[in-house]
Amino acid sequence: MTDPDCLFCKIVAGDIPAEVVHTGERTVAFRDINPQAPLHVLVVPRDHEPNAAASADADASMFAEIATTARAVATGEGYDDYRLVFNTGSGVGQTVFHTHCHVLAGRPMGWPPG
Ligand code: 5GP
Repeated sequence: MTDPDCLFCKIVAGDIPAEVVHTGERTVAFRDINPQAPLHVLVVPRDHEPNAAASADADASMFAEIATTARAVATGEGYDDYRLVFNTGSGVGQTVFHTHCHVLAGRPMGWPPG
């Protein structure tokens, strides 16, 4: 399941370059082009869905796999503490409508997020 017009489907397919840090059977992780922290990686499912809830509806185990992939990426780069963000909807800042988990680490982070 891919969307020919989707930026992240094109990155997953290798048609658009990205700094890939993990390739799994069902997930891919690559560095954000506009990093907001020393570590800023996006974990995406290979299958195209517009947001995290839709991916969970399609396959309930996907959330768990994204979380364990995010942990592997963060700990692999030396970060035991990290923040995971799923923007869902343009009103909260989602700009790419292919499920992605931001993995952020390496600087102090405030709460609540802005
Ligand atoms: P959103 O705002 O949808 O939660 O996050 C989308 C993220 O994708 C943003 O942090 C943005 O910097 C990143 N992004 C947008 N275009 C590209 C791209 O072409 N390559 C990479 N690696 N990241 C991108």
